[in-house]
Amino acid sequence: MSDFKSRNNTLDETEVQTLIRTAMSVRDKAYAPYSEFKVGAAILCSDGRVFSGCNVENAAYGAGICAERGAGMQALASGSQEFTAIAVVGWKDDTDEGDRGLSYPCGICRQFLNEFTDGSLRVYVARSPSDYDENDLASLLPHSFGPKNLED
Ligand SMILES: [Zn+2]
Repeated sequence: MSDFKSRNNTLDETEVQTLIRTAMSVRDKAYAPYSEFKVGAAILCSDGRVFSGCNVENAAYGAGICAERGAGMQALASGSQEFTAIAVVGWKDDTDEGDRGLSYPCGICRQFLNEFTDGSLRVYVARSPSDYDENDLASLLPHSFGPKNLED
């Protein structure tokens, strides 16, 4: 049973906070021994399901992967291909709550997410469940290249 009644990009405040809490919870599982910068992401899909992911670093740095793509892979592997909203949180464990920054998705993740939305994907970048910035993906990735570019 999903906590989310939203099937489009109009989440109410409780749903936003639930999505952020899910991202904060999975952040604790991040594997970030090199940067110590732990990131968590939670994606709400149009079918009401939520998938989460954390960043996973690697001794060969380029082999690491971001939390946002980890969450997206979980969604895709479970059959959900339409993303409605994503919450992202990221900071080092020793950062006081008041000193947390906003960890926006990197460029690669913005492009990745763009594949699975029409641009209306809500992006919540948070310091806490009640302290967040909200954008749609189209504003974070203007003039994007996506599936429509390859249509005849
Ligand atoms: Zn990324």
